[in-house]
Parts: sequence; C-alpha cells; structure tokens
Amino acid sequence: MAAHVLVFPWPLQGHINSMLPFAVALAGAGVHVTFLHTEPNLRRAAATASPAARLRFMSVPDGLPDDHPRSVGDLTELAMSLNTTGAAAYRALLDSMLSAAGSHAADAGAAVGVFPAVSCVVGDVFLPFTVDVAEELGVPALAFHTASACSVLAYLSLPRLTELGEVPVSVGVDLDAPVRGVPGMEGFLRRRDLPSTCRRRPDTHGIDPALHILAGHAARSSGARALIINTAVSLEAPALARIAPRMRDLFAIGPLHAMSSAAAPASTSLWPEDEGCMEWLDGQADKSVVYVSLGSLAVISLEQFTEFLHGLVNAGYAFLWALRPDTVGASQSTVLQEAVEAAANGKARVVDWAPQRDVLRHRAVGCFLTHAGWNSTLEGIVEGVPLVCWPFFGDQQTNSRFVGAVWGTGLDMKDVCERAVVEGMVREAMESGELRRSAQALAKEVRRDVAEGGSSASEFRRLVGFIKELNV
Ligand code: UDP
Repeated sequence: MAAHVLVFPWPLQGHINSMLPFAVALAGAGVHVTFLHTEPNLRRAAATASPAARLRFMSVPDGLPDDHPRSVGDLTELAMSLNTTGAAAYRALLDSMLSAAGSHAADAGAAVGVFPAVSCVVGDVFLPFTVDVAEELGVPALAFHTASACSVLAYLSLPRLTELGEVPVSVGVDLDAPVRGVPGMEGFLRRRDLPSTCRRRPDTHGIDPALHILAGHAARSSGARALIINTAVSLEAPALARIAPRMRDLFAIGPLHAMSSAAAPASTSLWPEDEGCMEWLDGQADKSVVYVSLGSLAVISLEQFTEFLHGLVNAGYAFLWALRPDTVGASQSTVLQEAVEAAANGKARVVDWAPQRDVLRHRAVGCFLTHAGWNSTLEGIVEGVPLVCWPFFGDQQTNSRFVGAVWGTGLDMKDVCERAVVEGMVREAMESGELRRSAQALAKEVRRDVAEGGSSASEFRRLVGFIKELNV
C-alpha cells in the first residue's frame, strides 16, 4: 500500500516552520502527506496552494473563539482546548482517512489527485494525543520534537534533576552553579541554562505548571514508534547518543529548512512578510547590518525595548528589527517603530515581520540578535552568521548556552538586558574574526549533514524507508 502520512504540528509558527519543510521533503520522496493546521492558521497562512503534488493542507478547529489572541500568555488555554476540541476533531478526521475514499472525501480542496488511506501519523511531541489516538485507531505514529536535542535531553532528565534537588530552581539562588542531573552535561550546564520552566516563578515562587507537562510530553515520546528531531549530528551528537537508547528509534534529520528537497514556500508564515526590507538590505554594505528578531512569541517590557534600542544605536551599526506589533505589551507599535527610526537617525529599518530566512542569507547581514528559538538558531547557523542570544523562554535558555560555550558561534546574553551589554555584545559579534570563523566553519559542517550522503540526508532516507514499511 502507498504511504500516506498525516503530519500535525503544534499550531505555532516555530513548529510549523520545522514540520512543513519535513512534509515537503516527504512529499518529494514519493510519500503522500496531509499537513494538518488548525482552522485559524489555515486561514492565516498566506496561501494554501500546495508546494508539492503529494502534499495537501487540511485543518481541525482549535476550539478557541476567532478573536482569541492565541499569544504567549494563553498557551495553556490553547493546549487545553486542543486536547479536547482539537483532539476530538483529529480523531474523527483520522478515522475518516483510514480508507482512501474517506481521505478523498475529507479533502479541504488543496489536494492533487486521490490520496491513499492514511498509513502513519507524525505528531508534534507537544500534542501527545496525536500519537495516542493514532495507535488506538491502529495507525502507527511517530513523534516529532521541534526543539534542540540538548533541550530534549534536559526535559528527559527532569526526574533526575528533581531527585538531585536541582530543579525547581528557587528564586535567589546562584544561577551560575553547575547542575549534575543532565547526563553528559555535568558541570557545563548551569542552573540558568536549564529550560526556563525549571525556574520557580519569581512572582509566586511557585513551580511553573508547564514544567511537568513538558517533562511528561518528552517522556511519552518514548512510546511512539520513533522520535524525529530537527537537528544534526555535527551540532548535537553527544545529546543524540544519550536520547537514542530511551527511544524505540531516533532520527536526526535537520536542519530541515536547509535540505534542498524541503525548501518550503513563503506561505509557511502566519504573518505577512515585509519584502521591502530586502531592498533596504540591498542598499547596505556587506556584513554591515545587525538583524534583530525575537521570534513569534517573545514579549518584552517597554524598559527592555528601550535598553535594546539604545544598545543597538550606541553600537553604531545599521540594523533591521523585526518587531511584531504585539512584542512590547500593549504599547503602540507605530509609536515604537517611529522611536526606533528617530533614535537610529536613518540607520534602521523596522518591519512587523521579516522574510527571516532570506534576510539571514543576505550578504549585508553581519550578525543576528536573536531569542535563540531553535528555528532561528538553526537558520543563523546554516548561514554562518554570528549570534547574540537573548533567550526568552523554554528551550532557548539551553540553546543559547550551546551557541556561546559549545559551538562558539555567538554570545549568550541570557538574563541581562542592559544597553551597555547589548552594545558590547553586538560590537563583538560584528567585529570578532574568531566568532565569524567559527560560525562559517559550523555552517559548512551542517550543510554537509543535509547534503546528499550527509548524516541528516541519510537519516531522512532511512526514515522514508521506515515509514514506507509501516503497515496499518
Ligand atoms: N520568523 C520570520 N520572520 C520574523 C520572525 C521570525 O520568518 O520576522 C520565523 C523564523 O525564521 C523562524 C520562526 O519564525 O523560523 C520562529 O521560530 P523560532 O523557533 O526561532 O522561535 P519561536 O517563534 O518559536 O519562539
């Protein structure tokens, strides 16, 4: 029977940007793929025209009202709603797709040709019901983790970290103290580098409720037929070696966006991309611009915005700032954009949302001030751009430690947001020959991983074989 995979990402930009290139690559390898969005995301994606003949988009409701913000403060609400309304709709859809006729009948309109019955599910680790429901219906399921392997290992190590009393990290303790509970990273990973949910909440001193949920999700991935991670051995071989024995099988197939067969269309974006900034970059000298983006979720205070702005202006380089309208709490985004342009005296460009992968590829970009989200980190690494990391939450705390202390391709500004530090680190990232050389050397290695015969490309091929052999 022909393989047909249902791919269901957690409905946030970072997860879509990781799992859609995966879907495109699978379709390119001869597998039919249905990519499942939530209804609001399917409407938001700029175009739903399929980038590959064997790939189509469908949707399920997320259960929240249309005018719900679905922002970083509401993720628990979104998760609860997905676990009920989303899961029920997913079950009904998957059930209907168990026959080719049902699969065709449920088609949202973007399909090309008749799709065979579904033969496998690849579900986001953040949506454990995707795997559970599939296996209940007799459909084999694989789990996909869109975060770095180092953070996956940290989540898998939470029972040990807790046993050692290293987690939760209390307010006021020395955050530079090393932890012993993550195997292979003893003495290197500090308390401040653990995923942010490991820290007690500064407002209540209570445990972050997301801590156990995320730990549970990571542990449950061992029940899936295999775990797929969007990473490469040249980046994370030691962490992958520690994760592998805990899974039924493990595939490291990233960075997926860089795999030639996986180049996803611009329509992966949930925000309209401001292409005008590319022309602005064309007018700038080589490696003269600082690109600033804190991803799709991070929110900062007006004070933090002001520190970033003065630090950037004082560093003296032109900069391009992708500043989502909801980044600075309730502040007026046009007022902030004007403030940036006035302070930078013609040397800055602000956009709501940038075509980030194109921006990082542009010859004018000299460094990337990032929140160290895993996609942004990978995108910067692939282009050999030095990074200044200001992690906001989740796995970003761990990723930025690796950028600064393992790969040596950037600087870790974690837990500090002061203009003098921003200025100093941006200058260093723009001017240090050593950082640039490390960034370019790592880019070469990672590109080799995704090229024909490289480890990620070979693992991807093994994964396609694995999927084709699964039988419902
Ligand atoms: N992104 C983009 N334009 C922007 C900001 C971000 O296209 O102006 C993309 C970026 O390329 C990345 C994704 O949004 O693929 C953000 O994912 P990441 O894992 O870095 O962080 P998250 O948004 O999940 O915190």
